[in-house]
Amino acid sequence: MPHTDSPHCVSQAGTVWFVGAGPGDPELITVKGRDLIARAGAVLFAGSLVNEAAMRWAPEGCTIADSKDMTLEQMAAWLIEQAGRHDTVVRLQTGDPALYGTLIEVVQPLDAAGVPVHVVPGVSSAMASAAAAVESFTLPELTQTVIFTRVAGRTPMPEGESLEALARHGCTICVFLSITLLGKVVRELMAGGWAEDAPILVVHKASWPGEEKIVRGTLADIAQRCRAERIVSQAMIIASPALGARHWPELAKSKLYDARFTHRFRRASVPPCRTSETPT
Ligand code: SAH
Repeated sequence: MPHTDSPHCVSQAGTVWFVGAGPGDPELITVKGRDLIARAGAVLFAGSLVNEAAMRWAPEGCTIADSKDMTLEQMAAWLIEQAGRHDTVVRLQTGDPALYGTLIEVVQPLDAAGVPVHVVPGVSSAMASAAAAVESFTLPELTQTVIFTRVAGRTPMPEGESLEALARHGCTICVFLSITLLGKVVRELMAGGWAEDAPILVVHKASWPGEEKIVRGTLADIAQRCRAERIVSQAMIIASPALGARHWPELAKSKLYDARFTHRFRRASVPPCRTSETPT
């Protein structure tokens, strides 16, 4: 694959589209993302993370390169070079490009080279993990907030964003990039006030056909359960007071579908309850 060492300015540049490939199932790319691949002159994909099956949408003659052995500079240089040759160039990223990717680092040199850039969102692995386990991140009156975070590995966490501090909110927390640090995740959740018997969910390769694994446990035993399943990569750790709600006999129901509640699209069919809340 041709690599150049430094970005250069191009005239008559094509557009580079940063496309979210989704979490793994090739059918979870958006229609827009798939159509862009289908008309791309060149596609750069994150080989270790994006399902190569997505390349089936690429047209014959499309230049395809895997970024897994490239530096950021090489990736930018490759995209700039291809944008000089093709109208449509796709950079395919795992999940959604706005979460834990290299979007900004690669966009900056493209901006500097005058190459137009667009982003197409994707289904994040956090959402695919909830879907795999039939879980809702939010439940009325229980938790209405979701935190996407990670723990410090080689990348330090910014001031005020330790998992221990975030855990004190008691809301749903999706921990990315941290399965090899599961012991630390458990310790920080406990230090932040979560009980030993709090339910935890780990989803490995959510949505990947034939490869997905769902592991449920408590803070006390999740590490041992994941070891038993040999889960050491590509996993989402989810802590939430809403986990397992599918099997609860009593739920505080969403007011939006409450028969006593009138809103923009439906009149109450039974007398209203006393509430000042507006459904969303
Ligand atoms: N932009 C991606 C995240 C990239 S960071 C997104 O929106 O999903 C990579 C991390 O995402 C992994 O360490 C893992 O925590 C998570 N991840 C990616 N794909 C996954 C999948 N199919 N199942 C579970 N977790 C996944």
